[in-house]
Amino acid sequence: MAEAYPWQDSLWQQLAGRSQHAHAYLLHGPAGIGKRALAERLMASLLCQRPTPQACGECKSCLLLKAGSHPDNYILEPEEADKAIKVDQVRDLVSFVVQTAQLGGRKVVLIEPVESMNINAANALLKSLEEPSGDTVLLLVSHQTSRLLPTIKSRCVQQACPLPSEAMSLQWLAQALPDCSAEERVELLTLAAGSPLMAVSLQAQGVREQKGAGGRGCEEVAQATAVADATGRGMENHPDAASV
Ligand SMILES: [Zn+2]
Repeated sequence: MAEAYPWQDSLWQQLAGRSQHAHAYLLHGPAGIGKRALAERLMASLLCQRPTPQACGECKSCLLLKAGSHPDNYILEPEEADKAIKVDQVRDLVSFVVQTAQLGGRKVVLIEPVESMNINAANALLKSLEEPSGDTVLLLVSHQTSRLLPTIKSRCVQQACPLPSEAMSLQWLAQALPDCSAEERVELLTLAAGSPLMAVSLQAQGVREQKGAGGRGCEEVAQATAVADATGRGMENHPDAASV
């Protein structure tokens, strides 16, 4: 089960507590705040046979999802990190969407990050958004909606996922990084532009120690920050981007 982050409580209630679900949701916000985890929880809840609305974790659907063999669940993401989602991948998804659900419930598709689709892939996806098939719910996750086709955005219920407050992030980081001092956690959160999960990943990369190592580390910090940025961007120099 994906982790439930405390700053997502009200978002979770809004999304999972709906009596009727939209055909497609666009979860958008800065990288490093747990949008993927939120989408995975929602996916599990939508597929679960006894949701409360949290997925029960015990029904046939939950067990299949845990085993990675749920027939009515589809995750579309780049085959390699920071590369494009290819049009052939979207075509495979489209043929999944038109099938009947094998367990008789919903089908749920998770796409992340949506902006890594080039124009051909995005156009192929539009068909699935325009012609909803049965009880299929599409969960689109985006770090940068400015890079999405307006036609994709307009066909989804948009759900903004804001940065948590600094106080909430620091409170969570105190548990996530118990070996760091309060001062160090503030520094990491600043380097991560306020994204708590990015702060943890920067700590794992040893960014703060490098920075402290006598002037040598500034470049490495800049590199690590560039890596962090790349999780939200990265398509500008993509070889496929020129062909779109
Ligand atoms: Zn269940």
